Amino acid sequence: METRNLIGYNYQPELGNKFKAVDPSLGTDLPGEFYAASISEANAAMELADKAFATYRNISGEKKAAFLRSIAEEIIAIGPPLIERAMLESGLPDTRLQGERGRTTNQLKMFADLLDEGSWVEAIIDTAIPDRQPLPRIDIRKMMVPLGPCVVFGASNFPMAFSVAGGDTAAALAAGCPVIVKAHPAHPGTSALVAEAIKKAAEKTGMPEGVFSILYDDGYAIGEALVKHPKTKIVTFTGSFKGGMALVKMARERYEPIPVFAEMGSTNPIIFLPKALENRAEDLAKLSASITANAGQFCTQPGLLIAIKSDALDRFKNALAIAIADVNSATMLTPGICANFNKLSGGIIADDSVSIIAQSDKIDNSKINQGVAVVTEITAAAFLADEKFKEEVFGPYSMLVVADDVAQMEQVVDSLHGQLTATIMTESDELANYKSITDKLVNLAGRVILNGPPTGVEVGNAIQHGGPFPSTSDSRFTSVGISSIKRFVRPVAWQNWNEELLPDELKTGNPLNIWRLFNNEWKK
Ligand code: NAP
Repeated sequence: METRNLIGYNYQPELGNKFKAVDPSLGTDLPGEFYAASISEANAAMELADKAFATYRNISGEKKAAFLRSIAEEIIAIGPPLIERAMLESGLPDTRLQGERGRTTNQLKMFADLLDEGSWVEAIIDTAIPDRQPLPRIDIRKMMVPLGPCVVFGASNFPMAFSVAGGDTAAALAAGCPVIVKAHPAHPGTSALVAEAIKKAAEKTGMPEGVFSILYDDGYAIGEALVKHPKTKIVTFTGSFKGGMALVKMARERYEPIPVFAEMGSTNPIIFLPKALENRAEDLAKLSASITANAGQFCTQPGLLIAIKSDALDRFKNALAIAIADVNSATMLTPGICANFNKLSGGIIADDSVSIIAQSDKIDNSKINQGVAVVTEITAAAFLADEKFKEEVFGPYSMLVVADDVAQMEQVVDSLHGQLTATIMTESDELANYKSITDKLVNLAGRVILNGPPTGVEVGNAIQHGGPFPSTSDSRFTSVGISSIKRFVRPVAWQNWNEELLPDELKTGNPLNIWRLFNNEWKK
């Protein structure tokens, strides 16, 4: 099997450098070869995307919704080969990938439903008031329009739900933006299967050529060319701080700076209040599942546990040690991610101020690139003294920071960088005494959780998956849920236009289900 770059419907891809996918559990090459894209192919894909934008941006919501639903159907139609290939390429288990496929198709359907409903355009109508004194008010109507061609960098840790037809692609296509995916080199075969599904859906539903393309590359050149292309209007990325910031810098240095929505890592702190530990230390240790699931390779994995020293905390530590010891090692997504995990966790463990409080001894020696769960402990004073302890260690790792008292616990929270999530474990009758900590958590994170694990992100209407820097490059937006469409649009106001010349969404008589503002009064 040879997979070429998919550029529009008819473009004849070049046969450039080839690379192969790797089975991370064995280190062996997987069947199939992938042609890395050339710069001229990146340019061709972007030219086609820009051409498609002129048509696609004006296609009705109904037709775009049909396109998104058709992608979901085509993904399901691939059947078991999709899951089998994703398992081989990612090392993730069958059940996780079945769930991820469901999440991917549900996201597509969720955006289709949003298009049917229509309110995402945020139409606001100020009709004219000709006799207003001292000056008449002119008719002004505003709504969101798509920004233009979007480059989506597939993420390594969600080969489907944050990849080729993942949340970013679904939201961009729903908004009216053509998409070019830069496939993640860790799962090119999975990417190719899903890309074919999108192409079929685009053809079936009559979408313009260039509405979707995918380019493969096992290096940085194509990603850079796409971000720097003058017709690119938006970039989305999930991955390392280094990768995300390289793209942000590139985008800012263009003649026309463009937004890069980068999700770059978070340690997702969990604060344990004293009474919660006293009453249910052993139960709280069940968090071991959130720390270690799928080798801890989740953006919301809890990498930092913060508590005040006590006998109850010792009980929690003992229970956590027992639970973690029982966790099987698991294959990590790529040899690079595993090497990075071992380097970062090893560097921390080697520090004199750090001790290991829990470690798995169930290592599968028949496989390589195994993530072995470990939890370390450090005093708050030592944690505060060195920035390196605040870095994300991507994998089945967490660090317990032990404070002497509440004031020191607050100091630790104050020292943290922006986070996707922050969690507080408490009893309802003690929370009122810790208002200051709760306030700090709201300031720190995009999602604040009471008594629950941060992993298991609900894909819905109210979810916020994006927090202060460096967890994301722009905390005003979410990359999960219906609001994620806002990353791909900008507002335009129509001033003094006749009713019949306005877009349907802005016509006063249109029965579309959209909120409108008539003469400063909200009506449905
Ligand atoms: P990555 O460095 O995050 O890269 C992700 C994608 O961006 C890849 O397609 C990569 O291309 C591309 N890229 C990276 N730097 C680039 C640059 N300077 N110019 C152009 N393209 C660039 O790689 P990863 O292997 O997926 O993950 C590495 C680390 O990222 C992990 O160990 C972990 O620390 C972090 N990570 C975090 C999350 C999270 O959700 N918090 C998720 C995934 C990864 P190439 O692959 O071709 O280099």
